[in-house]
Amino acid sequence: MSGLPSRPALSRAEVDRDAATRDDPAALAEAWRSARVLVVADGTAVVQEDDRPRLVLLPSDEAPDGERLYLGRDDDGPVFAVAAALPRRMGARPLGLREVGALLDDRDAGLLVHAVGLANWHTAHPSCSRCGAPTEPARGGSVRRCTADGSDHFPRTDPAVIMLVHDGSDRCILGRQAAWPAGRFSTLAGFVEPGESAEQAVAREVLEEVGVVVDDVRYVASQPWPFPSSLMLGFTARCDGDAVPAPADGELAEARWFDRDELRAAGTWGTGRGVQTPSAVSIAWHLITGWLEQG
Ligand SMILES: [Zn+2]
Repeated sequence: MSGLPSRPALSRAEVDRDAATRDDPAALAEAWRSARVLVVADGTAVVQEDDRPRLVLLPSDEAPDGERLYLGRDDDGPVFAVAAALPRRMGARPLGLREVGALLDDRDAGLLVHAVGLANWHTAHPSCSRCGAPTEPARGGSVRRCTADGSDHFPRTDPAVIMLVHDGSDRCILGRQAAWPAGRFSTLAGFVEPGESAEQAVAREVLEEVGVVVDDVRYVASQPWPFPSSLMLGFTARCDGDAVPAPADGELAEARWFDRDELRAAGTWGTGRGVQTPSAVSIAWHLITGWLEQG
């Protein structure tokens, strides 16, 4: 379909993850010698802002000490991430994915979302879930291994669904979370539960959050969302145009119908007053923009 946004902002990675090198300690050591290194701290990295924002990558001999997480290689060679104090650079400053994820080019957006997600997981999983002993990184940081029983523990990803609910015509339902300021709206979303398909999760979450029954659930795209470890699975779903969204007690403070003209006139989060829709880094923006362009 022409005019649809091509890919969500954080789903543009183009670096080869090069899994073969992870399993070869000699190849990993060799890769490090010619590597560029992305330093990450608390979900941020140093971004140079002179023209288009771009990540500051250090030669490996200038990188700070820290666990070396192998991100893969591109035409310029290997890339690692190290979680450590951020380097200082003139004309550069620390920024996170929410701020700069949509502005970086494809390679940098992919490197930052990979590095942040992997670093989050290492920080949160210092010990073995079987026996409680400490774990340590292995295979270039792609797993953690128990120091007592040798078991391998793989990075955790939590599937979540996010859905634009529409009436098959010119209107859709968006909600406002209680913690958000007046006027800020987004698509409905929630985590997939054990034993549930993504499509079932879409229908259950919409019913739970706004009391509306949906059908014609269609997958659109997915996007990693490492806050701290989600994979957002984006859908559209249709409901009866006579449905009256009624926010259940809990996270949603408000939910209502919007038509395309109202959303086209709205600003994005953090801009102006009145109705605001999500910023371009989110898959919600991708879903809303794609739907607007179909009308
Ligand atoms: Zn163990």
